[in-house]
Amino acid sequence: MKCVVCNRRKGKRYCPAKHTKICAICCAEKRGIEINCPLDCEYLIAGQKVHQQRITKARIEKEGIKSYVKKTDLYLKSPEFFANIEIAISRLYRSNKNLSNKDLILGLEQASKTLETQDKGIIYEYIGENEYSNEITKSILNIVNSFMN
Ligand SMILES: [Zn+2]
Repeated sequence: MKCVVCNRRKGKRYCPAKHTKICAICCAEKRGIEINCPLDCEYLIAGQKVHQQRITKARIEKEGIKSYVKKTDLYLKSPEFFANIEIAISRLYRSNKNLSNKDLILGLEQASKTLETQDKGIIYEYIGENEYSNEITKSILNIVNSFMN
């Protein structure tokens, strides 16, 4: 049976979003982006794991192991918080295909600046002209605030 996505290669993986088999290349390239994978798809989870390992490796190389251990500690203390952030970001990517990594970075920077100001006791929301980034900032801040209360 041919892959229903590219209609060229052989479909080898059962895709829960397409309800049929797709090829490994389409799965790897399009999962979570063009294919609306359910969050419990084994291929999506495995792919995220590999992606995470690559990021971890790059981070250790860049920041050194100490900083990495510190961040991992933080992660282990509040896995639900990080899971919520991840889900929010993947939802935003899914609901808007034009969303770029740059928008995401800007959105995170705005959220981080807002939180820094909040720490100093000032209420000021850093919002820019990029609507996508603003949406990211707002959802991150919502999650952070819901966990702090
Ligand atoms: Zn394919």
